[in-house]
Amino acid sequence: MIRVGVVGYGTIGKRVANAITKQPDMVLVGVVKRSPDYSAKIGISRGIRFFIPHEELVDAWNRAGARYYGTLDDLLQECDVIVDATPKGIGMKNRVIYESKGIKAIFQGGEHPNVGEVSFVAQVNYESALGKQFLRVVSCNTTGLARVLHAINQQYPIEKAIVFLVRRAIDPNQDTNGIIDCVAPSFGVSHHAEDLKTVLKDINIVTFAVRIPVTHFHVHMISIKLKETVDRREIIDLLEESRRIVVLSSRDGLGSTAKLLDLSRELGRPRFDIYENLVWLDSIYAEGKWLHLMQAIHQEAIVIPENIDAIRAVSGFTDALTSMNLTDSSLSIVSTRFY
Ligand code: NAD
Repeated sequence: MIRVGVVGYGTIGKRVANAITKQPDMVLVGVVKRSPDYSAKIGISRGIRFFIPHEELVDAWNRAGARYYGTLDDLLQECDVIVDATPKGIGMKNRVIYESKGIKAIFQGGEHPNVGEVSFVAQVNYESALGKQFLRVVSCNTTGLARVLHAINQQYPIEKAIVFLVRRAIDPNQDTNGIIDCVAPSFGVSHHAEDLKTVLKDINIVTFAVRIPVTHFHVHMISIKLKETVDRREIIDLLEESRRIVVLSSRDGLGSTAKLLDLSRELGRPRFDIYENLVWLDSIYAEGKWLHLMQAIHQEAIVIPENIDAIRAVSGFTDALTSMNLTDSSLSIVSTRFY
């Protein structure tokens, strides 16, 4: 069993922790959390062992009557791998601690790419992550783009991709830093293209982004010039066969992100998570060498399977396919359809 600890129990950390408990080859040793709030108390009631980042938080946890098992240092002594899901910039600082203890760590997409030896998306570069000490699972947008562009590029080589990202402003549990009643562009090209190139090294891509005042889903509008002409049906077949990508039809009533949110509730997974890229069938349009499509990405969930595969990769589990199969079956991830 791979002994795993999670540092940072927010949007990503709590989902990764939950996913670890479902793996046949992993044990969740504990999680590090700062505040003894409702989600700590629910986690404690579910048997998760909580640790605090440092001794100064002892009083706050004692006052809240929330049980904890020690500090980050104590957790590290029991772990083979840490998944660090702290906010942007803190992972890079924590890296020094993991390095000094010789512990492997997986960081998240908010960190600078230099935090890891490899930027990771399981389907693209599992093998290059084998046995590494530090990995970075790329962001939700980059993961979503990497999956779909890699699948297409392998079979129909891409000459150039142009992507417009419509980004949710904040996550649903956040009550600060949102935007209201406006569209906020990232001027010039957005950072997503450069981030994608840390995974798909040779891709020729440019990305543009706006943020809009919603909390659920990013939407990507993707235009691709291929090296050869392509038939729409071939692309549909390819995407329907591709792992962690689901092609959905607006004819089933799924013509907006509001309906995708409702779909997630109907599916009834933990926290209503959708781990798959959701490509709208009706958006797939091919003309000569040009291919256009739109997809939605559940930003809170899409990187969870990647974190689980990353844990196996750094632990030296060599068989990428078996890792992804284990991850997908444990989280009920589909590759063709939900229903
Ligand atoms: P979050 O704010 O929801 O959670 C981070 C948690 O870490 C918070 O609970 C915070 O209190 C805690 N924390 C802060 N300092 C800590 C410390 N020193 N020790 C332990 N815990 C500490 O953030 P998030 O959205 O889960 O993002 C985490 C990382 O994942 C970021 O790099 C982010 O860019 C990336 N990411 C986020 C999303 C998303 O949509 N939210 C998607 C993909 C990747």
